[in-house]
Amino acid sequence: MTTTRPDPHAVVQALRVHVASGATRSLSWRLDQLDRLAGLLTDNARELEAALACDLGSSPTEGYLTEIGVLLEEIRYTRRHLRTWLAPRRVHVPWQYRPARASIVLEPLGVVLVIAPWNYPVLLLLSPLVGALAAGNTAVLKPSELAPATAAALERLVPLYLPGVAVVTGGAERTTELLRERFDHIVYTGGSRVGRIVMEAAARHLTPVTLELGGKSPAWVDSTTDLAAAARRIAWGKLVNAGQTCVAPDHVLAPPDVARDLEPLLAREITRMYGPDPSRSPDFGRIVSREHAARLVRLVEESVAHGARVVVGGEADVAARFVPPTVLADVAPSSPVMAEEVFGPVLPIVPVADLDAAIDLVRGGEKPLALYAFTTDEHAQQRLVAETSSGAVGIDVPLVHASMPTLPFGGVGGSGFGAYHGEASVRTFSHAKPVVHKRLSPDTLAAIRPPFTPARRFLARRLLGR
Ligand code: NAD
Repeated sequence: MTTTRPDPHAVVQALRVHVASGATRSLSWRLDQLDRLAGLLTDNARELEAALACDLGSSPTEGYLTEIGVLLEEIRYTRRHLRTWLAPRRVHVPWQYRPARASIVLEPLGVVLVIAPWNYPVLLLLSPLVGALAAGNTAVLKPSELAPATAAALERLVPLYLPGVAVVTGGAERTTELLRERFDHIVYTGGSRVGRIVMEAAARHLTPVTLELGGKSPAWVDSTTDLAAAARRIAWGKLVNAGQTCVAPDHVLAPPDVARDLEPLLAREITRMYGPDPSRSPDFGRIVSREHAARLVRLVEESVAHGARVVVGGEADVAARFVPPTVLADVAPSSPVMAEEVFGPVLPIVPVADLDAAIDLVRGGEKPLALYAFTTDEHAQQRLVAETSSGAVGIDVPLVHASMPTLPFGGVGGSGFGAYHGEASVRTFSHAKPVVHKRLSPDTLAAIRPPFTPARRFLARRLLGR
């Protein structure tokens, strides 16, 4: 299929014809598409890593670990299990309906639109594609204009490997054009403002959507845990991709003494990972744009003016899109940094009286995409799972749930809805179609057809509802 400046209507129509031909239904076509996608990634890993370095300053190893490698694992896992996932599932037939057979068959939806953000521009464009292809669909991919090097690389590479998939590049106006078209499913990953635009556009065609949004994912830390080890994991989870990770721990909630003890431990871990001057570390990324870098600088300044204390920080260089790893202590829940998703290398520590106060705080905000708990207190772990709502929970570990293909990934409430990855993707991008077969003979429906004689009336009340 085409790539450069195509007419969105023509693109979608061509894909629709391809789906209607039935060519995408067979298991062999799906496996072949997955192989081709894996080939794209392995053959061009260097080019994609270079594009990521250009857009986000990511080190090649980080680019591989967080995007290319994760995708290859997801493809491998999907390939291995696809036949089983697609097998029609026989279901129990209640006695009243027997003799009959019933099953659920997964059928492709058709043409899927994937709208991706800039923060993991390879992963978040191609991971939904793994599921869409595995479920027998074709797709239109809309990479983010804020990661232009990656968008250009994918625009060139995807058609070479996957002629049945279209890439449409450009800014918001191109996304708007695409959204006028009728799709069979839309996956949008990004902020909630555009999420609303996508959902409104989808409503016009009654197109189902999966919205992968963001939010403020908290990390609860208490005194029962190994604080040094917890600080190591939190600092890592926060600073991967310079904090531009939807499931990064957004802030720490901890009792005041734990909050204080964490300060030097977090500082130590940051130096361990990125040295005394992170601006010189080849492993610390850059902010996607000057606007976003300036936003983060402003957020820190306003929070300091609001009483926060800088534990770790330093000079930002907005022109170079560099914001240093920053830890803010004594952050009040009313602080500016707590009013929006941080989405950068700034970690606020919010002292709270106890677990009750932490739970109240979480419940008082939008439901986060992830919630993390660093505690050995099993009762506290259980309470956090049971008394708060979030896309996922990570106990003692941030981020990893998001790259496990065995788990569904998605948000709830303000962090979005619908889920994908692995089998969840195949279900999301398929229609689960019930198929019932009840032979004409014996005619066991005779008893429930009019005329409702006294015998049939009696039978009707015996058949159902008891
Ligand atoms: P972004 O600005 O790149 O926007 C995402 C997409 O929306 C782009 O493809 C863009 O073309 C399109 N778009 C922008 N403005 C539009 C408009 N007016 N009309 C139509 N389309 C438009 O990305 P972003 O929103 O800055 O992404 C960051 C957010 O995404 C954060 O909130 C983050 O938490 C969230 N996120 C969520 C996940 C997840 O899996 N749940 C993953 C990554 C990021």
